[in-house]
Amino acid sequence: MRVALAGFLHETNTFAPVPAGMEAFEVGGGYIPLSRGAEIELRAEGVNLGIAGALGVARQRGWQTVPILWAGAIPSAKVKEDAFETIAEEITAGLRAAGPLDGVFLDLHGAMVADHVDDGEAEIARRVRDVVGPNVPIVAALDLHGNISETFARTVDGLVGFRTYPHVDMAETGARAATLLHEIMTDGRRPACAFRRIDYLVPIPFQTTDTAPADALYADLAAVEADGAGVRAASLFMGFPAADIPDCGPVTVVYADTQAAADGAAHAIASAYAAAEEQFAGQSYEADDAIAEAAARAAQVKRPVVIADTQDNPGAGGVSATTGLLRALVAAGAERAAIGLIVDPETARAAHEAGTGASAHFRIGGHPSVAGDAPLETEAKVECLSDGKLRATGPYYGGTALDLGPSACLRIGGVRVVVTSRIAQMADREMFRFVGIVPEDQAILVVKSSTHFRADFAPISADILVAVSPGPMPLDPGDLPFTRLRPGLRLSPNGPAFGESRASSARPDTGDAAGVQYRQEDVIQQGRHP
Ligand SMILES: [Zn+2]
Repeated sequence: MRVALAGFLHETNTFAPVPAGMEAFEVGGGYIPLSRGAEIELRAEGVNLGIAGALGVARQRGWQTVPILWAGAIPSAKVKEDAFETIAEEITAGLRAAGPLDGVFLDLHGAMVADHVDDGEAEIARRVRDVVGPNVPIVAALDLHGNISETFARTVDGLVGFRTYPHVDMAETGARAATLLHEIMTDGRRPACAFRRIDYLVPIPFQTTDTAPADALYADLAAVEADGAGVRAASLFMGFPAADIPDCGPVTVVYADTQAAADGAAHAIASAYAAAEEQFAGQSYEADDAIAEAAARAAQVKRPVVIADTQDNPGAGGVSATTGLLRALVAAGAERAAIGLIVDPETARAAHEAGTGASAHFRIGGHPSVAGDAPLETEAKVECLSDGKLRATGPYYGGTALDLGPSACLRIGGVRVVVTSRIAQMADREMFRFVGIVPEDQAILVVKSSTHFRADFAPISADILVAVSPGPMPLDPGDLPFTRLRPGLRLSPNGPAFGESRASSARPDTGDAAGVQYRQEDVIQQGRHP
């Protein structure tokens, strides 16, 4: 079997401040850097990525592979038109040059919006289909946060989504997708597709599959595939909420031997998700309350309490630089506390100039695009310096080599701050250790992450709290100034539907008001931060 492989991954927060240009894909930002040909295999080897799982299947099945290009960037605002066109064109040019193919494997995220394209994956799939024609099967591996359109689902022959959040099964998902592709190439049977939308968004920290209700919803998918009814791939995409596009929101997509089997499974999965709505509501704390609560709980146990600074999670469009939680830690006089990553190249450079052991005045973090946020001006001691190169060993990054650039541990009283020059989501204990912080010895750990940190931090934590502090990614999707969602989509579990005022948020009253847009002034009034 001759199979082309390509990857183009981006999760787009259409409200975020910073777009994704070519340089974001070249660096990778928590992914491997943009790679071509044989480079892909070298860099993805043993890493928790869909492409790595697919390459494993390729070896087992004896595929003749044509690796074209793999590019992923950290979530941010829209992909710039030139970056989208450059990468998409390189993929299609590689397919044209590949000659006859038996199949195409795509490693995609499923929530890409570009300057000129709302539905990035459908556009990529359409272009790939145009090159390879109607008879060559195409299967894609996707993130659980995919905002998936029906057009996309029907342009390809199979979609296979992650089943865990934290995404510890990225490579495994790639392997499942590649196996489906192999089956289609071998038996020549193209599966029937069923696609069902589901009617409410869930704040991302509450989507975790570590706990109810998502744990059971995802466990059910494997059961559906195993029950003998002919389902070949069942996926549930919870969607990425911060995307102001009509396809934003959860869907289930099922591929099966018969249309009836696909429809039956999709109906069952969508119904189970709908029934779980009450259970998806979770608890959050304001910054000061989170620190006080964490300090109180940590005093009773000898393990760290981890606080998720969810609104500045760079895995969702955050800048990983806001200072709300840092200020709260310092103001509370927290002891044995650490926070990271604060991405601030100037401060990192100043720390390197000052040298290890020096005390100096620093202006730490803050991002001009985030209302209510500012740098923290303070005296701090440079406790440790690093070139920022590390290997993230926890289950989420799964061995990925990260290059965070010149970095430092700055100490303010009992608070240690990980300052880096480059961005990546704090989801691995090595991201504290590389600047000398022992995470297990801390009472409070504040992480710029919503959920992925759980994979490596839950095993050492006494408790996990979700905090809200000014940042680009509101915890409650209802705080986002949406204008283009599909009418009737509820913005949070049991929350208001798009177009419905908050005063009448009891569901399911979505009829008359559907389609009415929020006024900007209402959004600001309703939002947690102006
Ligand atoms: Zn995701």
